[in-house]
Amino acid sequence: MTRNTEPRLAAHHWYRRPAMAQALVLNATYEPLSVVSARRAVVLLINRKAEIVHAGEELWSSERLRFPVPTVVRLRRYVKVPYHRRVPLNRRAVFARDRHRCQYCAGTAENLDHVLPRSRGGDHAWENIVAACRSCNARKGNRTPPEAGMPLAAAPRAPRRHGRMLIGLGAQPHPTWGAYLELTG
Ligand SMILES: [Zn+2]
Repeated sequence: MTRNTEPRLAAHHWYRRPAMAQALVLNATYEPLSVVSARRAVVLLINRKAEIVHAGEELWSSERLRFPVPTVVRLRRYVKVPYHRRVPLNRRAVFARDRHRCQYCAGTAENLDHVLPRSRGGDHAWENIVAACRSCNARKGNRTPPEAGMPLAAAPRAPRRHGRMLIGLGAQPHPTWGAYLELTG
């Protein structure tokens, strides 16, 4: 047996255990990234790709290693979240984020408004698009909010997808996950 096979063997032993707990994986910045089996989280720890943030009371052990079963782990290196993990940008999604309210006057939204106008280099991105009513959209025209004297209700942000991701995986959120999910919710 080579030294390299040991983590795999350890993971295999874990896999055959009946209770399959799950662990929340945080980015190096403490942003939630995904939910994995506790077995997978243990492999991340063994490979020194992650460190334990919270652990349950149970102990996981192989012949040589012993870990508390992780419920939250944090990656040692920052992982850039791929673009497709973000919520797709479209009219309906922006209206939903802004609750169908004009972000300038709180009236009923009818249009999308580029905060920094596209003609002036503004991006077509979540952080630069808000829902707006027709009259605010027209009044603002080719100006920025400060130039137009029209402050935004809130700085626009890209919605996060982790809520749906957790449901999609059928995860039962562990009590220790709460604080991390709220951070970016
Ligand atoms: Zn308006």
